[in-house]
Amino acid sequence: MYGPSLEESDDEECSGDSRWITWYCGLKGHEFFAEVEEEYIKDNFNLYGLRGRFQYFDHALEMVSSSEPPDEDDLADVEFLELYRDAADLFGLIHARYIASPRGLQVMREKYLKGTFGTCPRVLCDRQHALPIGLSEDLRSSTVMLFCPKCEQTFSTKSKYKEVDGCYFGTSFPQIFLQSYHAMVPVQPPRPFVAKIFGFKVHKHKSLISRKLEDEDAKRQAAEADSKQTSEQGYPKTQVANM
Ligand SMILES: [Zn+2]
Repeated sequence: MYGPSLEESDDEECSGDSRWITWYCGLKGHEFFAEVEEEYIKDNFNLYGLRGRFQYFDHALEMVSSSEPPDEDDLADVEFLELYRDAADLFGLIHARYIASPRGLQVMREKYLKGTFGTCPRVLCDRQHALPIGLSEDLRSSTVMLFCPKCEQTFSTKSKYKEVDGCYFGTSFPQIFLQSYHAMVPVQPPRPFVAKIFGFKVHKHKSLISRKLEDEDAKRQAAEADSKQTSEQGYPKTQVANM
């Protein structure tokens, strides 16, 4: 697990330069990654608190910042591979911060619009584009998952992403993304599943999404009634005060 593979992705998103990061993001299964800019990594502020999480921080940072990708000899060298693991983790943790930055969000927005992260597997979400999410901020706790902004459920990814750690994206990324780009929040509520037997609706059976929608509706109506009542009660008082 987490070993490097020389197989390159079919995705033609690479910028063409030969940095380690470009090489790493171009590997098969690494299509979700945004290429972190050199300036972002050079800024010590962005690396704050990461040193203590790595045994060979300086060497790992050197590898990540390298202007050359590894060659075949490197990838056969045990020492190199040990350091590579640290470098990949360091890059991943920097990446989780980068994609929450304005520039990183823009890169992820382009990928989202293209559907690079895939679509929600729920049929009633009509191939809604999904976003990557982690279930933990700790390394090797879980692999990257998909979050659907329509049904707000989390799903497993395809097997080719099974070696990508979830914490390389973080647990808050979809929320930060959708708060930054309000227009990306699906306007249509998710279509609930209606349970039927031989064409007849199952009496009193409601799906989780139906209940959620009804709940939100009831809350909205209560809030509306509340504000109406407040303004009605407030009106005469103002009038009295004015008189
Ligand atoms: Zn969905």
